[in-house]
Amino acid sequence: MNPYLRNLNRIEFVVTYACTGQCKHCSEGSHMSGGEHIDGDAAARMVSGLCSMYQIDSLMTFGGEPLLYPDEVCKIHATARDMGIVKRQLITNGYFSKDEEKIRDVAAKLVGSGVNAVLLSVDAFHQEVIPIEPVKVFAAAVQEAGILLKAHPAWLVSAEDDNPYNRQTHEILRQFEDMGIPVSDGNIIFPSGNAIKYLKEYFHSEEDYSDPYEDDPEDVRAACVSPNGDVLGGNIYRTDITDVIENYKPV
Ligand code: SF4
Repeated sequence: MNPYLRNLNRIEFVVTYACTGQCKHCSEGSHMSGGEHIDGDAAARMVSGLCSMYQIDSLMTFGGEPLLYPDEVCKIHATARDMGIVKRQLITNGYFSKDEEKIRDVAAKLVGSGVNAVLLSVDAFHQEVIPIEPVKVFAAAVQEAGILLKAHPAWLVSAEDDNPYNRQTHEILRQFEDMGIPVSDGNIIFPSGNAIKYLKEYFHSEEDYSDPYEDDPEDVRAACVSPNGDVLGGNIYRTDITDVIENYKPV
């Protein structure tokens, strides 16, 4: 076994960098409304391969906006379910269509593919650019389908900090709480991408901000696959995952 991957127990897929939002706080910078996306069949093969080598406890799909490509998302989660991965999560901004029938159809597909937790990114930043009504339709459909759903806000400075964005976020969250949707701890905005550009007055140069999503390259816990298939220094479109695992070295 590759010693740098001895504790690997999670798989993450950035389904696409394309997004329906252009949020001011986005750590990825500006997003296009279309673009490259993960190949669901190759991703499913990778999930099966990795599960035959490691005890994988959780899998997450996110973006960009992953539900721009619901069929690919569902192929990944169905394989995760079939391979016995217990925690199968999706992070979405909930806005991929205004068509209520399509929104409900996607919610039904998600439950059918075994997604068992949805984190809905709603807050002052998302709702500055994303209309809330279609998001509520999606939230209601997910709730009805019986998938665990939580509102997942991004906080500026801290969840307790009193600033105009956080105040607006509290108001938005109240609308989801009124629908019976609980709120997760959310995450604190990290100075990266658009956040540096548009929110720099909230970050202080003397403070040491560590990237909450960064893994130790010598003890990798999560295999994170990019839309172009890149993962752990290899690529799942060109190489079998067993070779990617064998050849991984920290850089
Ligand atoms: S924060 Fe999320 S919803 Fe907003 S642009 Fe970035 S990926 Fe899209």
